[in-house]
Amino acid sequence: MARLSKPVIHCDALVVHCMDYRLQKFLQPWITVRFGYDNFDIISLAGSVHDYEMVLKYVQLAVQIHAIQTVCLINHEDCRAYGREGTYQRHKHDLTDARNKIKALFPDLAVETFYLHLDGTFELIL
Ligand SMILES: [Zn+2]
Repeated sequence: MARLSKPVIHCDALVVHCMDYRLQKFLQPWITVRFGYDNFDIISLAGSVHDYEMVLKYVQLAVQIHAIQTVCLINHEDCRAYGREGTYQRHKHDLTDARNKIKALFPDLAVETFYLHLDGTFELIL
C-alpha cells in the first residue's frame, strides 16, 4: 500500500531559552523581529543550555523535521536553575561549549549565543 509522504515543512531557526517568566516579555518580541513571525521553533527549558543533552535532542529533531539553519541559544542573568553557579563566566562558558559541540555535530548550522540581562539587553556572546 502506497504511503503518501507529508509535504516538507521548514522554518529557519530553533530558539532555546529559559522558562523564567521574567524574560518572556523581552524574548517573544526580540525573537519575532530576529527570525520573522512564524519562522522558528522554540523551546523553553529551565536554565536553557544547562541541560545540554536535552538541547541536543531538540536540535536534532528540528534539523530532521524542519530543516532549520540556525540555532539561537539564550542564557540569562540571575538564572535560578543555575543557582549560585550561575555567574556571568559560567553562562558564557556553557553557551560557548554548547555552540562548539553543536557546530561539531552539525557543521552547516549557524549557532548564535546570547546572554540576556534582566533589563532586556541581549548581549552577543562570541
Ligand atoms: Zn533561568
